[in-house]
Amino acid sequence: MKLLEHKIISEGLVLSDQVLKVDSFLNHMVDPELMLAVGQAFAERFAGSRVDKVLTLESSGIAPAIMTALTLKVPLLFARKHKSLTLKDDIYVETVYSFTKQQHNEVTISRKFLSPGENVLIIDDFLAHGEAAFGMARIVESAGASIAGIGIVIEKSFQSGAGRLREAGYRVESLARIASLTDGRVTFVSE
Ligand code: 5GP
Repeated sequence: MKLLEHKIISEGLVLSDQVLKVDSFLNHMVDPELMLAVGQAFAERFAGSRVDKVLTLESSGIAPAIMTALTLKVPLLFARKHKSLTLKDDIYVETVYSFTKQQHNEVTISRKFLSPGENVLIIDDFLAHGEAAFGMARIVESAGASIAGIGIVIEKSFQSGAGRLREAGYRVESLARIASLTDGRVTFVSE
């Protein structure tokens, strides 16, 4: 997605050869027009699949996911990273290792919002090693629902997540694919 690539080049900050900061349009301040275009791009890519619900992880996944859900006219559900006071029996819980925070988080979703037989489209802002996406996928599958696909705004293709998810049989659609962040420069995967 050229618009997104231009934005990454003009506003992204390469923090290391592993981490890109995009807090001016995705991770802190949000560009709503770009997010709408992102949502429309995901809706187009998954147009041939049945999607009953969009699922993401709070908080940075919410902006792209809400625009995807709006375009597809389905609800958005976000997994929570904070421990809920709700009874354990009412929630699905998965432990997910956070790439940026380098800690394990308990991710929870209320059982009442995922039903067997539903087709769920997972959306996230970044894909590094796939921990967040696999965690969400495990919850969807434990609810007896299916995964329509995984939509990623920025895939770092040099890390293991994209390969691991595709090997596990999931359809992964990424709008920007980064081949490397070495020498402070963003290089995209050439199509
Ligand atoms: P994964 O779970 O695939 O290892 O990492 C993806 C998650 O970590 C995303 O939800 C995102 O919040 C965060 N993340 C991974 N890499 C980056 C990065 O380079 N920049 C930012 N801002 N977040 C990242």
